[in-house]
Amino acid sequence: MPASVPAAHLVRTAPTLPDRVRVAVVGGGQAGLSLSYFLQQLGIDHIVLEKNTVTHTWRSQRWDAFSLVTPNWQCQLPGHPYAGDEPHGFMKKDEIIDYLDGFIAKVNAPVLEGVTVKRIAPQPEGGYAVATSAGDFIADHVVVASGGYHQPVVPRMAERLPALVTQVHSADYRNPQSLPEGAVLVAGSGQSGAQIAEDLHLAGRKVYLAVGDAPRCARFYRGKDVVDWLAEMNYYDMPVDAHPLKEGVRDNTNHYVTGRDGGRDIDLRKFANEGMELYGRIGGFDGQYLQFDTNLRESLDRADTVYNGINSSIDRFIEKSGIDAPAGGTYEPVWTPEFERPLLDLAASGITSVIWCIGFMPDFAWIDVPVFNGRGAPIHRRGITQIPGLYFLGLPWLYTWGSGRFSGIARDAEFVATHIATQETQGAQASPGMEGIAGTPAGQQTMAANLPGAQPRVSAMAG
Ligand SMILES: Cc1cc2nc3c(=O)[nH]c(=O)nc-3n(C[C@H](O)[C@H](O)[C@H](O)COP(=O)(O)OP(=O)(O)OC[C@H]3O[C@@H](n4cnc5c(N)ncnc54)[C@H](O)[C@@H]3O)c2cc1C
Repeated sequence: MPASVPAAHLVRTAPTLPDRVRVAVVGGGQAGLSLSYFLQQLGIDHIVLEKNTVTHTWRSQRWDAFSLVTPNWQCQLPGHPYAGDEPHGFMKKDEIIDYLDGFIAKVNAPVLEGVTVKRIAPQPEGGYAVATSAGDFIADHVVVASGGYHQPVVPRMAERLPALVTQVHSADYRNPQSLPEGAVLVAGSGQSGAQIAEDLHLAGRKVYLAVGDAPRCARFYRGKDVVDWLAEMNYYDMPVDAHPLKEGVRDNTNHYVTGRDGGRDIDLRKFANEGMELYGRIGGFDGQYLQFDTNLRESLDRADTVYNGINSSIDRFIEKSGIDAPAGGTYEPVWTPEFERPLLDLAASGITSVIWCIGFMPDFAWIDVPVFNGRGAPIHRRGITQIPGLYFLGLPWLYTWGSGRFSGIARDAEFVATHIATQETQGAQASPGMEGIAGTPAGQQTMAANLPGAQPRVSAMAG
């Protein structure tokens, strides 16, 4: 049976599992609730199944000092756009939770919390058998809105580190005080790694950072947030088909930048000047020495190339549009490693904790439907799979940059809900075929050439 619902969530808890339902929505995050918003408007019977509590990832998988990386105006959940007085600010964790609580109350979705979907399998006679921790039922349609970040990745080398070293994944990191005294090794410099390294650095902790190949971007450039410029350049409306990397963009690492304290760049070279120790990508541990790739210089240079590339694309846009904006410029490195350091003596370094910030692996093993590609990612066009009645929502670049974020989920959820409604009224379960969905507007192709994504890895903004 579902777990009791914390008062703050204000969900309409469905009383019990039905025998049959039109639409089963797996996941009660922002994607699942957005879909419920539109299904309710269309009068389509559905149930949302959430194995924890609704929007729990925002509550339980973010560190205490977390701020949105995307500006508040991009919080565009359906029927619940950001309404505060700081559209260009960046909500802190508590404010995000308040914003989500408002959304949850507004949507009033039929949710069963504490229910894990364990298997979905197509029925010979149509529809899907849905097996859950609370019982089984049949659904005509299943929408997988289970998020894009499932299993925290921790490399096997972690097993070789001494038991005295505390190890956590970024999803479980909370604050500097929760770690034992001593130096901290942060492994990975993507969105989470760079921000967590900054959090520790600002708290006065000695930080060793194993820098990966994440790109970075400026927070502000030529008088505006870079996100605002990219919005004006229509980057956020560009469908994945029009992106120069096509579906390959889904594998891109997010750019590192922060919304903390009103927003600023994250410049690892500046941190190095202030005492943070930068290394290349972590490679192993031999019992005494941590081993690193000798690619620190290359990684820092590449991140700066992306940073400057995005700014150049903004320069071109400003020039072409005849916009009067403050002068721009090129970032010049404020620190460069004199040499690469492949080894670090663990005991001598004083490292007492390691934070693994190397991402998550998807887990769709419970979906017993042949809908995945060679890398285990679902094949779909705009969330609609070739298997009638099966849909995905909330994945990075499902349709646009904002698909896995607050900014684009409403558009995707409305599209999938409308598609389901069409299927319902036609009384048919057949998918219209991949070609008929999400055709790229011709103009978008041209538009893409002028956008920062025209060069690989200069593509996505952080988020
Ligand atoms: C560190 C970090 C920072 C981010 N910063 C930003 C930002 O600044 N701005 C922005 O717009 N976006 C940001 N995002 C991205 C995005 O907004 C979040 O990932 C968001 O949580 C995605 O919502 P979702 O509903 O698609 O997935 P999730 O929030 O992951 O929700 C999926 C839900 O499905 C449930 N579930 C999974 N499997 C099952 C199952 N088998 N049965 C039942 N329930 C299941 C899970 O418990 C979960 O509650 C960030 C993401 C991360 C990780």
